[in-house]
Amino acid sequence: MPHDPVPEMLKRATEALEAEFGALPAYRTDPDPGIEAAERVLEETARRLGDNYPYFHPLYAGQMLKPPHPVARAAYALAMKINPNNHALDGGRASSAMEVEAVREIAGMFGWKEFLGHLTSSGTFANLEALWMAGQLAPGRRIVGSEQAHYTHQRISGVLKLDYASVAADPRGRMDVEALEGELRKGDVGMIVATLGTTALGGVDPLEEILTLAKKYGCRAHVDAAYGGYFGLIADELEEPARRAFAAIDQADSIVIDPHKHGLQPYGCGCVLFRDAAVGRFYKHDSPYTYFTSKELHLGEISLECSRAGAAAVALWATQRLLPLVRGGEFAQGLSKGRRAALELHRRIKLDGRFVGLGGGAPGSPSARNPGHPHPHLPEHDIVVWALRGNTHEEASERAKRAFDACAARGLHLALVQLPGSWFGMDGGVVTCLRSVLMKPEHEAWMGAIWERLSAACEEVCGA
Ligand SMILES: *Cc1c(COP(=O)(O)O)cnc(C)c1O
Repeated sequence: MPHDPVPEMLKRATEALEAEFGALPAYRTDPDPGIEAAERVLEETARRLGDNYPYFHPLYAGQMLKPPHPVARAAYALAMKINPNNHALDGGRASSAMEVEAVREIAGMFGWKEFLGHLTSSGTFANLEALWMAGQLAPGRRIVGSEQAHYTHQRISGVLKLDYASVAADPRGRMDVEALEGELRKGDVGMIVATLGTTALGGVDPLEEILTLAKKYGCRAHVDAAYGGYFGLIADELEEPARRAFAAIDQADSIVIDPHKHGLQPYGCGCVLFRDAAVGRFYKHDSPYTYFTSKELHLGEISLECSRAGAAAVALWATQRLLPLVRGGEFAQGLSKGRRAALELHRRIKLDGRFVGLGGGAPGSPSARNPGHPHPHLPEHDIVVWALRGNTHEEASERAKRAFDACAARGLHLALVQLPGSWFGMDGGVVTCLRSVLMKPEHEAWMGAIWERLSAACEEVCGA
């Protein structure tokens, strides 16, 4: 592991924070935290934590896991000396103000000045609030997403007792708008969930067309950008359809983004935004436990969750202070690096006969019944998905699983995903593929090392 700058970063800030409360009479904590016993336990804790994939390392290129920025970790740790609760201003005055500012910056990234929004414990909970709102505004009407929408939408709909329908996606993982219109014609859809950055493929639903249909059929359009939301900052570097989708995002009724995915935050940080601030009326509650000492709006009055980590807001605020959410800034450049790493991996896969890129056919190979897609699709974000060639989808799947293990044995950690075989020009069935999420800026410089290991692993599995 590289040298950890966080303890050093915290020195002056810790003194500054202690000075803020310097006027209080001194006291001892009870019981006194014995350093030696704690050190023993923490050493044991460290050993236990060793049982993890090295998520922080550039050779970890599997699931959506990105190390929090050192400033986020430091700010979170600093806030732990206070442990604020952003439910009500009484529990977290400063951190509530920081949440309001940080969320305003995120909304600003989407072009919104007037809105209602707050942080949540996760993208799932943020989406739950958006779906709940759809149910409040149009009770009994259905929610529709694509089959590549996050699996939790269906589950959340079940919790909210809203019917959910899923419509087909194309081989780029994008919602099929004709299939969508088929559902809308039934006349009972309350909200469409458009995903900008699907979890499996990073696919971008055609938001412009979806918004037109939402208007035509009188329903809401929610954008689940939990993963992909920040890519609006580098929209110029995306393919034309994704660029158009990001350009239309400000027309959505609600947006979800996960700072704990691409926003360099520790887990426990999602965000939901509503374009019409008047929806705040639905959150109204009358809790006898919340002693309002202020007449200002409490975040607990516009959130379904009660206690929420004020520290998450503090970490996000500090990170955005250091790395503002602006085009061309250092934060955006970090996204570009991962995106370039993905394009480079895609290029190498396309040129390598052992692999079939997503959307790539396999003309000439026995599995190729569908030579219609000779060119694999460019990744839309920083996620690359590809299959190993095989005579059948079963053989291709078996090879992918063995390649996954052979990569891990070489220190390279990828992920597996199951997709329709037809998306790779294979006949029918579901094929297990390799998937790599290249979300760390370091991935660009490490692509050579990643490829070397991948190539050697596949040589072992498929023969040279
Ligand atoms: C990750 C993700 C979610 C769920 O967010 P959590 O923070 O994991 O709860 C929802 N939608 C999309 C598109 C995601 O990528």
